[in-house]
Amino acid sequence: MRSVGFPDGTAVPMLGQGTWMMGEDPRKRAGEVFALQYGIDLGMTLVDTAEMYADGGSEQVVGEAVRGRRDDVFLVSKAYPHNASRGLLPRACDASLSRLGTDRLDLYLLHWRGNVPLAETVEAMERLVAAGKILRWGVSNLDTDDMEELAAAGGMSCATDQILYNLTRRSPEFDLIPWLRKRSIPIMAYSPVEQGRLVRHPGLKSLAERKGCSPAQLALAWLLDQPGVIAIPKAASRNHVEENRGSADIILDEDDRVALERLFPAPRSRTRLEML
Ligand code: NAP
Repeated sequence: MRSVGFPDGTAVPMLGQGTWMMGEDPRKRAGEVFALQYGIDLGMTLVDTAEMYADGGSEQVVGEAVRGRRDDVFLVSKAYPHNASRGLLPRACDASLSRLGTDRLDLYLLHWRGNVPLAETVEAMERLVAAGKILRWGVSNLDTDDMEELAAAGGMSCATDQILYNLTRRSPEFDLIPWLRKRSIPIMAYSPVEQGRLVRHPGLKSLAERKGCSPAQLALAWLLDQPGVIAIPKAASRNHVEENRGSADIILDEDDRVALERLFPAPRSRTRLEML
């Protein structure tokens, strides 16, 4: 699978796995662990979680899925904004590490912007890097003006901005994505199939049929067609995992791009970054 590089040169697969809603229901746990392991076997070795998801339950599911193969995966977790301070971030990080059963995170993100000054969060993140608890840090749900502020606050080593980005949520293309690309910062596209809603889109369904793939695959292939984009669909079933993996092998041609553009036009003016 094609990979995407972080500013420090580390490469990750362009297609990873999300885990929001995992760990909520003990009866579903075995299936969730299996789905993640299967996805890792298929090459989707970047796994995204957060302390927020199922109150740490998602991190525990991920911990179980990667037991014995920690070095094969790229683990991403996120801290609540209220934990992103000098005093609290180290504790939040330790708790995440313990639930994940690991000694380090590959990437640690500020989940969204809260009241802690960005400069303080940057300092707390850099301390965790120095301590070897995280290998790099980034942010999530930060719009262009927030990114400008982050950079001014000393945050130039930010590794990514994880944002809501899919065919129906193209607002980041107006200025946020160009801002990130200019600085070679990869974009992590969350809710890439719009939490399942995109697969029911009539226009996308008929384009996918013509292309000989599923609507989810076409939506993912559109994201993966763009440079510097990592998509992290969440799938808790074997079929969805397999289908999503297949999207990385779909090559879009100019006709596909034009047809998708007609159905889901690019933004013509600036709107604020949305979040789910
Ligand atoms: P998503 O990945 O767009 O959609 C997940 C939903 O789509 C699930 O119900 C899943 O069903 C279904 N699905 C997956 N593959 C499918 C396929 N091939 N065909 C049909 N349905 C399919 O939405 P998401 O979970 O919101 O986003 C992905 C990940 O991004 C999250 O899990 C999380 O890790 C991250 N995220 C981050 C933020 C943030 O603020 N940073 C916010 C939202 C999400 P099954 O589970 O039944 O397979």
